[in-house]
Amino acid sequence: MNRRGGLLLKMGLPLGLVALLGVAFLTGIFSKAPQVQTTTRMMMGTLVTLSLWNLPPEQAERVALHVFAEIARVEDKLSSHRPNTEVSHINQVPRGTWIPVSTELGQLLRRGLAVTQYSNGAFAMSLEPLTALWGFSSDRVVSQPPPATALRDWLQAYPPTNAIELQETEQHTLQIRLQSTSVGLDLGSIGKGYAIDRAIAVLRQDGVTDAVLNAGGDLRILGSKGGEPWRIGIQHPRQHDQVVAVSLLQGDIALATSGDYERFFLYEGKRYHHIMDPTTANPAYAGLISVSVQAAESTLADSLATAIFVLGPEKGLALLAHFPGCEALLITEEGKPIRTPGFVGEWLDKPF
Ligand code: AMP
Ligand code: MG
Repeated sequence: MNRRGGLLLKMGLPLGLVALLGVAFLTGIFSKAPQVQTTTRMMMGTLVTLSLWNLPPEQAERVALHVFAEIARVEDKLSSHRPNTEVSHINQVPRGTWIPVSTELGQLLRRGLAVTQYSNGAFAMSLEPLTALWGFSSDRVVSQPPPATALRDWLQAYPPTNAIELQETEQHTLQIRLQSTSVGLDLGSIGKGYAIDRAIAVLRQDGVTDAVLNAGGDLRILGSKGGEPWRIGIQHPRQHDQVVAVSLLQGDIALATSGDYERFFLYEGKRYHHIMDPTTANPAYAGLISVSVQAAESTLADSLATAIFVLGPEKGLALLAHFPGCEALLITEEGKPIRTPGFVGEWLDKPF
């Protein structure tokens, strides 16, 4: 999971807040319409906003409590920054040792490993030692790249395949093995999506039919806003107070965005951001600055957005083709939008 606190302060306005304001504005939360109730909490290193359509206040309050409790539960399992999570425990075990893993985490890893496989390792939930070197997820302010020797040492010990191995035991439980000291679990690119999916399941159990759950720009919607689609602003990758497009979503659908503007610093005129290319140990520079993915579930949308960002437009769209029903909006470093035919949205005039 991500912890953006320190960096966000450094950057002035939290980007999650920008996303929130975008959504708030577009969905009319601050207009006179009384039907949308929103609750926001700082969780998973970002602002998480639940927008509920047309519920009595007491019910909305109860539902929000359930939703945030579920997100907290997932974060307590998946965070690699907190000391007592399942992920942290796995990261503390000597490499090369098989360790039991809970069914919940095992199944999530399985889903992520499918994206790892299809992306030829570009999407990797195994980069904790590398992301720790770069420090984007830590509370410290990062302003320059790690020493080249440290990155070289990491690269030398990082296995080209099977960094994370998962297998079923004879008792039908799951176990995991991390291959080398360069490998550690970091679910920052999929955990938020998973938490959203779990929370949406809770919403459904509570009988909610119309809602948006937005975790810093990764979101999932249910139903509609009084029969109209929810209008979701997609953050402009270079102008923080603007949106680049508006996605019109109705039904049950997830949208996740990965971009080089979310956590970054400039050093000697170059932008260094938080999405890593495991083949270089450096931030991924594959020609894209923002990738949004629509999918049936947030877990998939979140992981595919990161994977496509690392792969670049050509290989990224080839990856997307393995996942029927998923659509994407890519923005190249020249500011050119590329979108698949089914990506539902509206362009703002001259976004670049
Ligand atoms: P996202 O913001 O969803 O694109 O996820 C980025 C986060 O995932 C980073 O902050 C890291 O914790 C982690 N991460 C970085 N590079 C990768 C990668 N190539 N594959 C998977 N996760 C990554
Ligand atoms: Mg992601």
